[in-house]
Amino acid sequence: MDMKIVCIPGDGIGPEIVSQAKLVLERVAEIYGHSVETKDVLMGGASIDEYGIPLTDETIAACKSADAVLMGSIGGDAATSPWYKLPPDKRPEAGLLGIRKALGLFANLRPAYLYPELKSACPLKEETCVKGFDLLIMRELTGGLYFGARKTEQIDGKRVATDTLVYSEDEIRRIAIKAFDVARKRRRLVTSVDKANVLDSSRLWRAVVEEVARDYQDVELKHMLVDNCAMQLVRDPSQFDVVLTENMFGDILSDEASMITGSIGMLPSASLNETSFGLYEPSHGSAPDIAGKDIANPIATILSAAMMLRYSFSLEKEADAIEKAVQDTLRDGVRTGDLILPGDTRKSVGCRAMGMEIVSRIA
Ligand code: NAD
Repeated sequence: MDMKIVCIPGDGIGPEIVSQAKLVLERVAEIYGHSVETKDVLMGGASIDEYGIPLTDETIAACKSADAVLMGSIGGDAATSPWYKLPPDKRPEAGLLGIRKALGLFANLRPAYLYPELKSACPLKEETCVKGFDLLIMRELTGGLYFGARKTEQIDGKRVATDTLVYSEDEIRRIAIKAFDVARKRRRLVTSVDKANVLDSSRLWRAVVEEVARDYQDVELKHMLVDNCAMQLVRDPSQFDVVLTENMFGDILSDEASMITGSIGMLPSASLNETSFGLYEPSHGSAPDIAGKDIANPIATILSAAMMLRYSFSLEKEADAIEKAVQDTLRDGVRTGDLILPGDTRKSVGCRAMGMEIVSRIA
């Protein structure tokens, strides 16, 4: 297969971690007989420095002409970076919102997997960690409360603020279809999370998800209220496979799910549109505090590349090969500094060395 990938290294540690993910992709392509062509474009702070704006039409056009996009991370230190003296629509993060909108990315996938080797980093009870977990939050990304009409007004001399939570059945249907499709590549269980005991939008959500489920008889569907889901994630996360939910609930639950893995440098993510196109990036930020020191953990970005192979190119074997190489690297005791837990006396490796260790284990 010929893969045309646009890379947005971005800011902070972005360029360092994306370099390692590219090496991994090139090695997989070499072993499995594919060709991979990559092109770097600017976005975020790097684009502000070069062009005065966080996202240019050229970057959008380059992304649209690619099969998939691999991103590092965007943004700087809000307290010290001159980027944050600009108006909000000119700051680095505006580039991120702009590219998601331009590419129609409505489905955000964030897996949370507890590596057996990193169980001691899990903040949950011992008996919960021992069971492990492997779940994926499927969050609707372009609708709901964050995109509904909002206003603040004076009523009878008091300030009153209003936000509106709107979902159409089409918006719900397309994300539900993604969730069921992804569940078919995993353990075939979708837990749809809503607040159907209170919200009309949630009642419509539940009804449409049930309609979609009829076309997926091989996938089990469960419903769960969001407050219960927040509790269940810390009580027994092993019960979940794909957690399907709307924008704001997904925002909160996906952060909770990443927290229980205990390792921010390990978590990949994908944002997809209706086709197989996707933008893949680590869940963490640009870590300006450690940028340029060759100590960042590249694993989240490398695992994002694995998600790209799985979801944009349907290359299951190749995605598995990357995930296995990461697992083997951890099993062999190789750790970047962020993965060294208190009391562990082993020496950490840098970003480049971690990349090399993973590349050397791809088979
Ligand atoms: P962050 O995730 O960048 O960093 C939080 C802490 O985790 C820091 O101590 C950092 O050193 C560490 N860390 C993060 N990734 C790591 C890695 N791969 N290896 C080792 N350590 C790692 O969060 P923050 O400090 O709140 O944000 C920094 C910047 O990133 C901000 O400008 C923020 O807006 C931006 N951000 C961007 C994205 C994105 O591009 N999608 C997401 C979140 C935050």
